[in-house]
Amino acid sequence: MSLPEIPNPRPGPAAGHVYLVGAGPGDPELLTLRGARLIAGADAVVYDNLVSPAIVDMAPAAAERHYVGKKASDHTLPQEEINLLLVRLAQAGKRVVRLKGGDPFIFGRGGEEMEVLVEAGVTVEVVPGVTAAAGVAAYAGIPLTHRDHARSVVFTTGFLKDGALDLDWPMLARRGQTLVIYMGISRLGEICQQLVAHGLPAETPVGVVERGTTQAQRVAVGTLATLADVVAESGIRPPALTIVGDVVSLYPRLEWFSPHPAAAPHAPHVGCTAVHGGEETK
Ligand code: SAH
Repeated sequence: MSLPEIPNPRPGPAAGHVYLVGAGPGDPELLTLRGARLIAGADAVVYDNLVSPAIVDMAPAAAERHYVGKKASDHTLPQEEINLLLVRLAQAGKRVVRLKGGDPFIFGRGGEEMEVLVEAGVTVEVVPGVTAAAGVAAYAGIPLTHRDHARSVVFTTGFLKDGALDLDWPMLARRGQTLVIYMGISRLGEICQQLVAHGLPAETPVGVVERGTTQAQRVAVGTLATLADVVAESGIRPPALTIVGDVVSLYPRLEWFSPHPAAAPHAPHVGCTAVHGGEETK
């Protein structure tokens, strides 16, 4: 792939360095130019399951490829081993690109990996990526802020290290803000109940987007009262992002992205389904 020329580009990857690169939420076109250049010059690429195969394929054919992907319940490589692998590759003098879905510093454990690398004396550069909240909301036609609906936006996670859902509910249930929940699809019923118990109206619109920005994107829309059922009926599965707030009411009008499920490499379902209030409409 040839990339546009940029005046005074920064140098490509250097031996013995680790580049912590955000690969964006799915659509390979959302990778940054810096990320693309670094991948194209890598000796070793270490990547997760949320990274698009098309992005991994941008590495030179001779580059080592290490898949260290995780799914919620099935950790392919424990975090400590990933850290050790990165240190070992860098100390062997390789140009290492550590590819992470979305942005490395947003629910990506990029900070944890970087701490270990810095401690081991390895030089690290961080390349931000389009985080799922930004990318998925854009492709779903749900503006995260809007002067009529939300002046602030909060990113949180529904999956905690110890399995407890011990979140700051009064803060999350504030009106006039958009709440974006990474992970936690299996706890949606509980999450919606807590938000209502802490003051959000039960009719607050909520959207769930599965595999946003990819050809397998599916969007389900309901309210805090109906969402758990809507999601169960639609069979939506991780990776999926939940967006809570009045901005979700704009979705039917601002929806613009038409995925082509047949073109999706790992599409689990055939057909594009948008679910409104429990009824399949498309
Ligand atoms: N560092 C990543 C987040 C990793 S946590 C980022 O900045 O986006 C993984 C969670 O992100 C998933 O469980 C899901 O909630 C969300 N996510 C990532 N990619 C997604 C996608 N294409 N569609 C929907 N949700 C996505």
